[in-house]
Parts: sequence; C-alpha cells; structure tokens
Amino acid sequence: MARVIIFGAPGSGRSTYSKLLSSKLNVAVIDTGNVLREIILQDTPLGRRVKEYVDNGMLVSNDVVFRVLIQLVDEKQEKGFILEGYPRTLEQVMTLDCITKIDAVIHLVAPDWLLTERMINRRVCTKCKTIYNLLLQKVDKCTECGGQLVQRTDDTHEAIQRRLASFYEQEKPILQYFRRKGIPIITLKTIKRESDPKSDAEKLFSSLKSLRLA
Ligand code: AMP
Repeated sequence: MARVIIFGAPGSGRSTYSKLLSSKLNVAVIDTGNVLREIILQDTPLGRRVKEYVDNGMLVSNDVVFRVLIQLVDEKQEKGFILEGYPRTLEQVMTLDCITKIDAVIHLVAPDWLLTERMINRRVCTKCKTIYNLLLQKVDKCTECGGQLVQRTDDTHEAIQRRLASFYEQEKPILQYFRRKGIPIITLKTIKRESDPKSDAEKLFSSLKSLRLA
C-alpha cells in the first residue's frame, strides 16, 4: 500500500504518470484539478466561482480545496492513493500533513518550453479524459472511446503563464518541506519532446519498489 504524491509543473505529465502508475500499484488517483472541473460542470454558484479561478489560471481557495481533499483522502486512506495537483502551496502541504502520511513524492521536471508546448497542444477526451498531444499524435477523436477531443479552457497562453509562475513560486518551499520531513523524493527529468511515458513509468515503479512501496 502506497501513498504517493505526483508533484510537478502544469504540463509535466502528472495525469499521464498517475494513470500509468495507478494501475501498476493498484491504487486510486486523487486529482484535485479533475474534481474541481467536475464541480464546474455542475454549474452551481460554487461551480461558477471555481470556474473563474480555474479559467484564469489562478489557485482555487483553500476552503473549497480542503473540503474536497479531506473527503477523498479519507475514503482512500486504507488502500493507498496517488495524489496529483495537490499540494500547491505550503499551507496545503501542512494541511495534508495533518490528515495523512505520505510515503514518497515523485517530482516531474521539464523545461519551460516543453511544458508550454504540451499545454498549448493538449487535447482531452470529453468522455474518458484520455490526454493527447497534437504535435505527437495526429488524431481528431479519442482513439480509446471515440469521444470528442477538446482544449482545456485554462490552456491559453495567459493562463499558462500564470499557472507556471504560481508553481515556480511555491515549488522550492514545498520540496524543502518534504525533505525536512524525510519523505523520499524520486525525480524524473524530461528534456525532449519525444519521451516514452510507459518506460518512464516503469522506472518510477522500480524506484517505488526499491522503497518497498510496490
Ligand atoms: P490541474 O488540472 O492540476 O492543472 O489544475 C487545474 C486548475 O485547477 C489549477 O490551475 C487551479 O486553478 C485548480 N486547482 C487544482 N488543484 C488545486 C489545488 N490543490 N489548489 C488550488 N487550486 C487547484
């Protein structure tokens, strides 16, 4: 049983690696971004408020995020989980510390140009949420389920810049916090457009195995 955080900038492949690793580790993924997008789809006053933040590339307020997180972590606590999209601030990492123990952190690193290029060319299936990069995959509908592919409303140049800036501001203090707590950090660095997520996931899996978490 493993409780792992996938930590990295927007566009670093958090969702892709979470999905690949969750089936290998047989644990669920807790993705705060996805949960917030579900809330937006409900089109309630809360959903409309959340949408304004997400579309502009700003962080959603802690009271909303904590409520979502505490419930999901509580449900998955026993069987383990992969947490992605959280924490994004030092306050969030401290809150997490109060509700669960984290066994390892996977830190995804990629250069700015690659992160931006991936987000601009990212398309997501509306049905099964599979992610495509149009630069690498010439598809016009989902090859998994035939669903329609759409661009995320926050994958605009302006929102991307804000999201990256917010990540870089918080990245070091958050990593420092993990280090001080003695939580193992596994770093995966990607420098090329053409990477092989499956073989990278194998490497991550081996690292988790050597920590006796797989
Ligand atoms: P993501 O899918 O992880 O790129 O998240 C998309 C957007 O959801 C972010 O740009 C934020 O607006 C919001 N979001 C996701 N996770 C969090 C979080 N832990 N705290 C605050 N906002 C979040």
